[in-house]
Amino acid sequence: MMAALSRNPTAQSDPTPVKYICSSRLVTLMAKKNSKVTPARRQYLDFKAQYPNAVVFFRMGDFFECFDDDAELVSRELEITLTSRPLTKDGERIPMAGVPHHAVEGYIARLVEKGYHVAVIDQIGNDPIDGIVPRKVTQVVTPGTVTEPAMLREHQNNYLMGLALEADRGGQGFSAAGIAYVDITTGEFQTTEVTGDGAPVKVLEEITRLNPREVLMGQTWATNGATLPPGSHLTPRPDFQFEPGYAAEALRRHFQVKTLDGFGLSGMTLAVCAAGAVLEYLKETQRGSIEQIISLRYYNTSRFMTLDTATRRNLELTETIRGGTEIGSLLRVLDRTVTPMGARLLRKWIGQPLLDLERLNARLDAVDALYQSGTLRAELHDLLRQISDLERLTNRVLTGRVGPRELLVLADGLNRIPEVRRKIQGVSEMESLYERLNPCDEVCMMIEETLTDDPPAVMNVIGTIRQGVSEELDHLYRTSREARDYIANLESVEKERTGLKTLKVGYNKVFGYYIEISRGLSERAPEHYIRKQTLVNAERFITPEMKDYENIILNADDRLLEIEKRLYEDLLKQIRRHSQAILSTATAVAHIDTLLSFAEVAARENYVRPLLTDEDVLEIKNGRHPVVEKTLKTGRFVPNDCSFDTEQRIHIITGPNMAGKSTYLRQVALIVLMAQIGSFVPADEARIGLVDRIFTRVGAQDEIHAGQSTFMVEMTETANILANATPQSLVVLDEIGRGTSTYDGMSIARAVLEYIHNSPNMKCKTLFATHYHELTELEVILPGVINYNVQVAEEGDTVVFLHQVAPGKADRSYGIHVAQLAGVPKAVVNRAKEILADLEAQGSDFKLKKTKKDSTHQISMFDDSRHPVLEALKALRIDQMSPIDAMTRLYELQRMAKQE
Ligand code: ATP
Repeated sequence: MMAALSRNPTAQSDPTPVKYICSSRLVTLMAKKNSKVTPARRQYLDFKAQYPNAVVFFRMGDFFECFDDDAELVSRELEITLTSRPLTKDGERIPMAGVPHHAVEGYIARLVEKGYHVAVIDQIGNDPIDGIVPRKVTQVVTPGTVTEPAMLREHQNNYLMGLALEADRGGQGFSAAGIAYVDITTGEFQTTEVTGDGAPVKVLEEITRLNPREVLMGQTWATNGATLPPGSHLTPRPDFQFEPGYAAEALRRHFQVKTLDGFGLSGMTLAVCAAGAVLEYLKETQRGSIEQIISLRYYNTSRFMTLDTATRRNLELTETIRGGTEIGSLLRVLDRTVTPMGARLLRKWIGQPLLDLERLNARLDAVDALYQSGTLRAELHDLLRQISDLERLTNRVLTGRVGPRELLVLADGLNRIPEVRRKIQGVSEMESLYERLNPCDEVCMMIEETLTDDPPAVMNVIGTIRQGVSEELDHLYRTSREARDYIANLESVEKERTGLKTLKVGYNKVFGYYIEISRGLSERAPEHYIRKQTLVNAERFITPEMKDYENIILNADDRLLEIEKRLYEDLLKQIRRHSQAILSTATAVAHIDTLLSFAEVAARENYVRPLLTDEDVLEIKNGRHPVVEKTLKTGRFVPNDCSFDTEQRIHIITGPNMAGKSTYLRQVALIVLMAQIGSFVPADEARIGLVDRIFTRVGAQDEIHAGQSTFMVEMTETANILANATPQSLVVLDEIGRGTSTYDGMSIARAVLEYIHNSPNMKCKTLFATHYHELTELEVILPGVINYNVQVAEEGDTVVFLHQVAPGKADRSYGIHVAQLAGVPKAVVNRAKEILADLEAQGSDFKLKKTKKDSTHQISMFDDSRHPVLEALKALRIDQMSPIDAMTRLYELQRMAKQE
């Protein structure tokens, strides 16, 4: 679906923007707040007032409860039972739906997935203060700010984006935008600015590239009909947070700097506005703890190949057009990464091909080195496989959310780094990565020396800190152990000491530990025994000494946990000091993993290293489609060449349906794209001059859900290509004009080709597949055009697809043969053959002719000289007409033309 960002109030609005749940019932209840509501209810309402736009989960005992409209919503969305409960003193019943506390994460995840915001209010103790259990907001979860590992996709970044828009002169749309995005689980925070006519398109391109889960916009823009692609949720924010002064101050305060120039943000007001607004939102949702956001980077979109939204979709880079699943995408074929960091980086690279020859060659050099050595690849794979998500773990350390077991996983991952370093040491192509790998020995040592071998997952029980770390802790453990031993041995010791055979040691909640002696013998209890309780058959005693030990036992666990928590916090503090080194190591691991993945795929799939150059060339020998060649169910993939020279830059490709035209077009585009992300390519040889943009207009897809007709979408995409292609661009046009009537379609197709051919700024390399065989005659008319066809062989009544691209035009379309192959009933096929024969006998009156005057003019639909409208037009004496007369005549001519 095409996203639209406009100020047009009639534009479709996002079906699931942030959900506003503050209902009239809630307002009424708020008004009643001082009257009869119970204290818990009042506490709930206060929280709800703070988070009117979120679903509030309120802890009550073992359950998290939702009330009022929230209850109805979660019951509907999560299919949980809706009940009610009296929560006012006059017995008014309130809708309620609850989930068990231990399962709450799963329910929250499902709500957030659907675009809702959730505020979690937990109990912070069990003892009521002034009759009410104290509670606090422990989490605010929104689609773009999720941090729980269970709610995240490991191989994908979870981006939150902020858009600061500047209205254009007409006030309908915008002419400039600041775009900022952040992944709070990895700490990546970047911002940029786009300006000029292309700003709206550029914004959409960035949204498609980054696929943010949540997009923040100023209230005014958000409520004026902005629509986003499915999967991105719009969250309106107060307009003032996007204002330059406010946003800049928010950034300066967070990064504790006097100026933002150091981030490359000097003069970049909109970029600052977007980044500042994002940061404010994070502060609000993360409840102040955003230590992981340690830097902000300005990026420039012009350093990357531009891929518009349609092209990303058409080339099925990260997901397929139809299913939205990754199977069948380029990503799926190229992804042999074994770490989450690598998987995320690969996705990023695919979305951002480079224009920088040096960087590309550096990537290709490294891939080449890995490609050459199967052993090195296998060894590195085995090592990397054991490295956990260093990036997200470090960020959990920074936010303090990391659990003790996760720290061991972090250390375990870091422990592999020296081995990885050893493996790539001396591989000159990987030297800079070698330098960036920091084993962080100190961190590993600290973790291993501080934590026990099998610590709890969460830091809320004792047993986390190893013996020998703290004298205070060890001492407490020792005394606690001694106390337990003392109590455990008390019975036998006292029995022996007193000689009283019936002496027993027991425990109850009222007295704690006691010594019990049967009635008959109790008179013989030693003097220092203090009588506490008399029962029918026995007497119970305590001693000061045993009470001391009892105190130690009862308080030890709380005290031990307190000390362990403190020591754990100290450990985190120390690790935080190394976070930059770990993150830089994580980036290096991600790079190695991605390059390794390229090398592995190249070796398995028989790809070659492309030769990249600044020259104006594109030559592919025996190229293959990386995805289709793997998914072919029958037969072998037929490789094809592609060669553009400086003269013949438009290739018209004809051939029957199913011959392989679309596959060929896409394969050329994909090979170029793969080369420009640093991958080897499916071909025998490839020489590729850097391409600044790839444009595709592929097939006529069903765009009804986007509220636009197929033809409208096709023309919008074509317009975009004609406005933006340069001589360095690669343009892939598949059957343009197919969405309308034959004559219109063919005329548009020809006009587009002529425009590309004749306009001095374009002259882009163009692959043009068409069913309009008449267009092949352009080869004669336009010197830059050359025909190719995808070949078939006729065998009797049927056709065999050879999938071979050869010079020259196709002579027939074989549409009826394809219909027959597809199982269309024989009667229909035979009748179609009859009709075709008739039509061929009559001859078409729609043939391309080389016009006498100008070979590059549009197709002539009729004989100019005889058309009445043209005749009338020619006869006009414009210089003798008043403006009103001219206007009237123009209307008449238009009416005549419409009647044609
Ligand atoms: P249409 O005009 O109907 O859109 P097309 O000419 O664009 O058809 P494609 O969709 O590219 O045809 O290809 C049809 C099928 O032919 C593909 O799904 C694939 O199975 C097979 N095919 C295409 N190219 C090749 C090739 N080079 N080698 C082997 N099989 C191929």
